[in-house]
Amino acid sequence: FAPWNDPDAKPLIQFKNVSKRFGDFTAIDDLTVDIFEREFFALLGPSGCGKTTMMRMLAGFETPTEGNILLAGQDIAPVPPNKRAVNMMFQSYALFPHLSIWDNIAFGLKRDKMPKDQIAARVEEMLRLTRMEKFASRKPHQVSGGQRQRVALARSLAKAPKLLLLDEPLGALDKKLRQDTQFELMDIQEKTGTTFVIVTHDQEEAMTVASRVAVMDHGQIVQVATPDVIYEAPNSTYVADFIGEVNLMKGKADPQGDSLQMHWAEGQPAVVGSPLAGASKGQDVHYAIRPEKVSISAEKPVDAANAVQGKVLDIAYLGNISTYHVELAGGQIIKAQAANNRRISRRAFTWEDQVWLSWTATAGVFLER
Ligand code: ATP
Repeated sequence: FAPWNDPDAKPLIQFKNVSKRFGDFTAIDDLTVDIFEREFFALLGPSGCGKTTMMRMLAGFETPTEGNILLAGQDIAPVPPNKRAVNMMFQSYALFPHLSIWDNIAFGLKRDKMPKDQIAARVEEMLRLTRMEKFASRKPHQVSGGQRQRVALARSLAKAPKLLLLDEPLGALDKKLRQDTQFELMDIQEKTGTTFVIVTHDQEEAMTVASRVAVMDHGQIVQVATPDVIYEAPNSTYVADFIGEVNLMKGKADPQGDSLQMHWAEGQPAVVGSPLAGASKGQDVHYAIRPEKVSISAEKPVDAANAVQGKVLDIAYLGNISTYHVELAGGQIIKAQAANNRRISRRAFTWEDQVWLSWTATAGVFLER
């Protein structure tokens, strides 16, 4: 399943050069993106970058100032919110407290005057899908937070929308329940085949549930790709820094045939890595490398493309692994991660230890910006 790699695949949603301005403030800036049928698409970015505005335009609560949004090839601008095959599930769930769970799920179907037997069949199906059959006659306050979330999902899917918008759907749940619910959400998305667009502040959540992630900044999408590409091959320091932990270094490019070197700190060897297209000698470049790609050792490693020496400054113990902050002679700090060996001691190195950090030529990426 990778319609974004298939030139014949038809997108379900197309943003075409969409801008949204509030007065003279540009919330969405000339944004173009395709979202495909059956995708679980995540919008990720700092507060105020325009995620909610994109959702509200899809739902029909806002109209673009410029550009077009197409749903299955049709411009949705003239279609009122209630006539769009789009539903939005809010963080508050907006369940009716005085109605049973059964009636909450049936609400939209009754309003649409669906025949009674069809409503019953549909509600039962949604209850089964969300494993809420046993709770159908309870009121929302008589079930747990996680179950309320499932009711909200059941209600949002009852009318079989083509597109479901989820605004921080798991925001009200604690971390453990949130993680379990992520898998349920993926399972339900897969079973129904509905296209999901999710807004979340939680990068791990976006990486877990989404088929593709769009990283946003100031009303624009900086990179849109599968979670592994976003993590392993970010296209900018912004994306590298936004997702997970990263070491970022800055220096001057020094192309060497089939590799690139970067001079970055006085007294330190140049960083060696795979070339960056178009990089010329002396150009400013950045290098991004994840802490788990940096090895830490007591002895100088032989044959490592990159090796620097430093002193352990800080240690974050994370159970299975520890993150070490290692200070180099010039004061630069590089983070490295190593597994904890419980049978020997909690961690392999301790504060003030002199250590070597090393990594291969393909462990990190050079970035232009
Ligand atoms: P958050 O993660 O905090 O919800 P967001 O990425 O969803 O943020 P939006 O809610 O889309 O951000 O808002 C984008 C920008 O547009 C913000 O700077 C916001 O203040 C502005 N904005 C949104 N709606 C309006 C409005 N109706 N009038 C004026 N400015 C608005």
